[in-house]
Amino acid sequence: MDDKSVLASGLIEKIGETTSKHIYKTQAGKQEFNNPVPSHEDGLKQVVNLITDKVVGVIKEKSEIKAIGHRVVHGGEVFKKPCIIDNEVLKAVIENVPLAPLHNPANITGIEVAQKIFPAAIQVGVFDTAFHHTIPPRAFHYAVPLELYHKHKVRRYGFHGTSHHYVALQAAETLGKPLTETNLITVHIGNGASITAIKNGQSIDTSMGLTPLEGVIMGTRCGDIDPAIPHFLTAQTDMDIDDINDLLNKKSGVKGICGMNDFRDIHAAREKGDQKAQLAFEMYVYRIKKYIGAYSFALGQVDAIIFTAGIGENDDDVRREVCLGLDNFGIKIDVEKNEGRFSKITAIHQHDSEVKLFIIPTNEELMIATETNKLI
Ligand code: AMP
Repeated sequence: MDDKSVLASGLIEKIGETTSKHIYKTQAGKQEFNNPVPSHEDGLKQVVNLITDKVVGVIKEKSEIKAIGHRVVHGGEVFKKPCIIDNEVLKAVIENVPLAPLHNPANITGIEVAQKIFPAAIQVGVFDTAFHHTIPPRAFHYAVPLELYHKHKVRRYGFHGTSHHYVALQAAETLGKPLTETNLITVHIGNGASITAIKNGQSIDTSMGLTPLEGVIMGTRCGDIDPAIPHFLTAQTDMDIDDINDLLNKKSGVKGICGMNDFRDIHAAREKGDQKAQLAFEMYVYRIKKYIGAYSFALGQVDAIIFTAGIGENDDDVRREVCLGLDNFGIKIDVEKNEGRFSKITAIHQHDSEVKLFIIPTNEELMIATETNKLI
């Protein structure tokens, strides 16, 4: 829509399983369907039926859809900005599968199905890694033999780029400065989490790396650990490298410490005196603080720190504990303004805080739609 309003939104979970879940939301309300969705193609067909339905639909016919924006997780070094997906682009996305074996194949399926069902529409790829293409070599290289970069593209790529870029644009507007003159630390903390240092509007470093496993502690991912731990575990346990990969991605993070990965559950447990939940919370906050410290030095001067995503927008305990005790560094949180959950841009700093603190709800879908619109 010209006014950027959302006509309909939705979600299909567990495609190919017996208990698929399809949520469809319009201004008229929310519907949930539990009929099986055997494939992505079936899923998209169901979506088309709903959006063109005489009663609950929002458009008359599918030919009204002129373009489709796809979130593609890994663009490798090839994709530095969103682009129209043609055969060459699809080939390059396929070539990046080794870098994101869990995500890119699903993205490719989504693109192929959309091409089949909407043959006349323009397909646009918006890459999670693209915003980070400005990270300089001193920050994107790992100190491993350089040939691993040349032969296998081992380097930091970073993720959540669409979100970091979106909140950075919003932050600059809120500060009343051009993005090209704005320095920010964007803290995207949801179930996955990453922190980005943005200098003059460009990403200069980010906490996720070759994969989304590196960086801050996440719901189930470990974030930074001693790289020798996997080798140590293969020697000390009967786990092989795949088991360890699974352990670090799915059974670690705050879940590995306290058995829970939803911060609502973690806080409820802390209130009842659960020591493991308390430890997980303290570790989580401490790691974010360390990254903010490191990125403040990398940037030299910081206009604002931005909190976004599920935890960043909703968890006042995490935000407060991350920011408290940093007055000497010009970071002064107003604990009253910080209280609560926020669905719109909200300032949570004291009036004399040198570094401003904002909650900015992320909107990756709007960013993808905007980028797609630009290309058509
Ligand atoms: P996301 O991946 O951005 O959707 O974030 C999901 C995570 O946000 C959940 O796993 C929770 O840890 C966190 N979250 C969502 N709502 C709340 C809330 N009201 N209070 C605290 N944490 C929340």
